[in-house]
Amino acid sequence: MLAWVLLGIRFDVKKERVEGVLGPDLDVVDVHCCFGVCYTVATRIIHKLQNPIDSEVTFMENWDLIIIGAGAAGLAAGIYGARSGLKTLLLDEKMAGGTAAEAPLVENYPGFPEIAGTELADKMTLHCKKAGAVIHDIEPVVSMDLKGETKKIKTNRAEYEATTVIIATGAHYNEIGVKGEKEFHGRGVSYCGVCDGPFFKGKHVLVVGGGNSACTTTLYLSGIVGELTLVHRREAFRAEEKLAKDVLSKANVNVLFNTEILEIKGDKVVNSVILSDVKTKQTRELPVAAVFVQVGESPNSSLALEVGVEAEEGGKSLKIDMHQRTNLSGVFAAGDVTNHPVKQVGTAVGQGITAALEAYSYIKRPYYRK
Ligand SMILES: Cc1cc2nc3c(=O)[nH]c(=O)nc-3n(C[C@H](O)[C@H](O)[C@H](O)COP(=O)(O)OP(=O)(O)OC[C@H]3O[C@@H](n4cnc5c(N)ncnc54)[C@H](O)[C@@H]3O)c2cc1C
Repeated sequence: MLAWVLLGIRFDVKKERVEGVLGPDLDVVDVHCCFGVCYTVATRIIHKLQNPIDSEVTFMENWDLIIIGAGAAGLAAGIYGARSGLKTLLLDEKMAGGTAAEAPLVENYPGFPEIAGTELADKMTLHCKKAGAVIHDIEPVVSMDLKGETKKIKTNRAEYEATTVIIATGAHYNEIGVKGEKEFHGRGVSYCGVCDGPFFKGKHVLVVGGGNSACTTTLYLSGIVGELTLVHRREAFRAEEKLAKDVLSKANVNVLFNTEILEIKGDKVVNSVILSDVKTKQTRELPVAAVFVQVGESPNSSLALEVGVEAEEGGKSLKIDMHQRTNLSGVFAAGDVTNHPVKQVGTAVGQGITAALEAYSYIKRPYYRK
C-alpha cells in the first residue's frame, strides 16, 4: 500500500479496506490520498502502524487542559497550552489536522501565500507536538461531564479528567437533501473535492453551491476534470470577489445561476442530475459523473449541547464571550463550532490561542474565575 502512496497513485481507503491493514480501530477513518498529499498520508499511515490502538484499554488520566478536536483551533490551543506549561491533551476522532486538510489550496493564511491544506494541517500538527502537547488521534470523545470543578471526558478507549476543557470540534458539511444524495454518497456524490476529485479525471462533474468552498473546490477540480458545471440557486455568488472572478474565467467551467438540483440519478454510480431553473421551473437532465456538494457547514456541537453548554440564540453554534468562555466554568470553545461570524483557519487559530491562554489564567490565577 505504501508503494502505491509513494508512487502517487490515487486511492480511497475506506473502513473495510483499512481494517485489513491497520486493524479494526480505525472505524472512523476515511483516509484519502491523491497526488500531492501522498507523502502526508504515507507518514500518517506509518504513524498509525507505529502507534497501534488497543480498543480494550480503559484507564484514567489527569490533565490540566483537554482539547476536543485537533483542527486549526485545537492545534493552536495545544501549542499555547503546552508552551504555557499546562499538561495538555488533544483528542480527535480522525487524524489530527481537521478541515483545513480538505482545502485544496489555502491562499489566505498569513505567511503562506499558497499552501496545500494538507501541508498546513501537518505543519500545525507537528508544531503542536513539538510544543509538548500530546495528541491522540482516532479517539472520539463519546461523553462528557463538564459541570463540576473536575471535568470528565470519556472516549472510545479511556476516561480522562481535566481542570479545563476547550471544545474545538469544528463543523460538518451540509447536505442538499435531494433524492439520490444519500444513495450515491461515496459512489459519485462527494463533499470533498481534494479527496475525491482525482477519481473523475477528464470527466464532466457538477459542483453545487455559491460560496467560498464551492468556488475553491471548482477551481481545484477544473484542473483535473474535463468539464465542470457549477450550479447555484441564487443569481450571484456569495464567495469572495477574486474567487468568483477566477471561476468565471475558467474555460472548462460552466456556471448556472438560478438553478437548483432536484435529483441525483445513476445505477451503481452517479450518471446524471435533474436540474431546475428556479425562475421558469423548467427541468432538464444533465449527464455528469459526480456531484460535489459545497453548501456550507453546521457545527459539531451536539455532544457539548447535551451536557449543558449553551448555544447561540436560535442556533446550534456554541455561544462564547470575547474570552472564548462558554456558560460553564472552565469550559472554553474555539473555531467553527462557535458562533464567531467568520469561519476561517486564521480566525480558528486566533480563537484557539485566546482559549488556551484563558484556560491558563483559569488554572494559574483562580481569582480570575467568574
Ligand atoms: C473545502 C474547504 C476549503 C477551505 N478553504 C479555506 C481557505 O482557503 N482558507 C481558510 O482560512 N479556511 C478555509 N476553509 C475553512 C477552514 O478549513 C476552517 O474554518 C477551519 O479549519 C476550522 O478549524 P476548526 O479547528 O474550528 O475545525 P476543524 O478543522 O473542522 O477541526 C475540528 C476537529 O474536531 C474533530 N472532532 C469533531 N468531533 C469530535 C469528537 N466528538 N471527538 C473528537 N474529535 C472530534 C474533527 O475530527 C476535526 O479534526 C475551508 C474549508 C473547506 C471545507
